[in-house]
Amino acid sequence: MPELPEVETSRRGIEPHLVGATILHAVVRNSRLRWPVSHEIHALSDQPVLSVQRRAKYLLLELPTGWIIIHLGMSGSLRMLPHELPPAKHDHVDLVMSNGKVLRYTDPRRFGAWLWCTDLAASSVLSHLGPEPLEDSFNGAYLFAKSRGKRTAIKPWLMDNKLVVGVGNIYASESLFVAGIHPDRPAMALNEPEAELLVATIKAVLLRSIEQGGTTLRDFLQSDGKPGYFAQELQVYGRAGEPCRACGTPIESSKHAQRSTFFCPRCQK
Ligand SMILES: [Zn+2]
Repeated sequence: MPELPEVETSRRGIEPHLVGATILHAVVRNSRLRWPVSHEIHALSDQPVLSVQRRAKYLLLELPTGWIIIHLGMSGSLRMLPHELPPAKHDHVDLVMSNGKVLRYTDPRRFGAWLWCTDLAASSVLSHLGPEPLEDSFNGAYLFAKSRGKRTAIKPWLMDNKLVVGVGNIYASESLFVAGIHPDRPAMALNEPEAELLVATIKAVLLRSIEQGGTTLRDFLQSDGKPGYFAQELQVYGRAGEPCRACGTPIESSKHAQRSTFFCPRCQK
């Protein structure tokens, strides 16, 4: 599933090809995504792209008359392709651009979304979201204050979009390992230095992933390549039974809210 670094990598990949160009029209081959593709997107014509932004895992294309909100769902990806390249089976939406390219959306599982919005602040998918993890408003004091009285295990608590956006399953597991914090601990058991450390770790893990994603930006221009997601060296995620990279103890896994959690029983307290 694309997580925040992959979405940010997608944003950086498509931005230079879209900003300054005009959407001539959209081609919607299959409207049945997580929600039906908004009718305003079907009807687009001659709209310049003013900016390409990101909020949580949503990509936001700013047009003079409103915003296209794109979510990649479980399996969605975006590529910039030559205009003449024929679509394949799961290529559900194209934005045909004035510069001879198309922004092509591919999504085998169709859990993604293409929505239209004229007021981001009133958007039902964006309005409830917590702070961005890389912005200054997400800091140790904030996390510590929010953790007071919270008995929830810290790992699913971190994944709550109302607390902070974009800390998905992989990044929650990885950040807790790097911070040395056991995922089963109640959030209220965090002390202030641990909250500071955890916030710094989350930012560092996400930034490193975004930087690694930068090396795959060329993939957005490949007509036949895989989407530009990147494999990175993970410390604990998906490594149950394998030796901890720090101490050699076998990595363990447990379940929180039906999601697998991976941790080192020795390094994380
Ligand atoms: Zn260890």
